[in-house]
Amino acid sequence: MPEGDTVWRTAMHLDRALTGSVLTRTDFRVPAHATLDLSGQVVEGTVPRGKHLLTRIGADLTLHTHLKMEGAWHLYRPGTPWRRPAHEARVVLETEERVAVGFALGVVEVIGRDDEESVVGHLGPDLLGPDWDEEEALRRLRSDPDREIGEALLDQRCLAGIGNLYKGEALFVAGVNPYTDVSKVPDLRRLVQTARRMLLANRERVRQTTTGVDRRGQENWVYGRAGKPYRRCGTRILMGSQGPAMQERVTFWCPACQPSR
Ligand SMILES: [Zn+2]
Repeated sequence: MPEGDTVWRTAMHLDRALTGSVLTRTDFRVPAHATLDLSGQVVEGTVPRGKHLLTRIGADLTLHTHLKMEGAWHLYRPGTPWRRPAHEARVVLETEERVAVGFALGVVEVIGRDDEESVVGHLGPDLLGPDWDEEEALRRLRSDPDREIGEALLDQRCLAGIGNLYKGEALFVAGVNPYTDVSKVPDLRRLVQTARRMLLANRERVRQTTTGVDRRGQENWVYGRAGKPYRRCGTRILMGSQGPAMQERVTFWCPACQPSR
């Protein structure tokens, strides 16, 4: 699942590649827009909102996409082969100089510019947004005090941009057990600031690291390291599931560094 920093970087690349250019061909490979043709329209820009991407086209349309689990946008020069199978493409935007292909996107919908709020209006403050509002994010998190913090951090209605990786890593660095109730987290502000710092540090990077170490296998503190001893305390990292039924996400933690309360 892409995190907010991946979406931010994707938006930046799409924005640099397409903004100001005329679309010479479009291909929407989703049933709702199979016959839609936006060629001749100018791309106005692409912005990230949490994990959503908004590509503004022409005077009044917006292409709303979401990477979900496996999605990615690729940029190619015309005539060069794609790095993923063509049948995974959900949308193709072509200009004179670039071909942008959205593969395996979870959402592809063209909406009116005025309707952007209807698809991203539910989101809490965006950790990487220009209008990041820490107080509002804390207020939203605290509004459900009995919820487990590992679940609340993933709720994009509280704050937008944290996925499973940064959830686990920020909780580890803050020494907070993921199953702690929100109301019992000793310093919620510091936890949120830690998560945001990780997103900021990684948004220009291709390979994410939360430890500051680039070497394979050492990029993260606990994420994906179940069964391995944590390097400093020697305790084996645990893995469990968390969240409402059918929507459980996996959680990693060190029982020594992150004791339950
Ligand atoms: Zn430990």
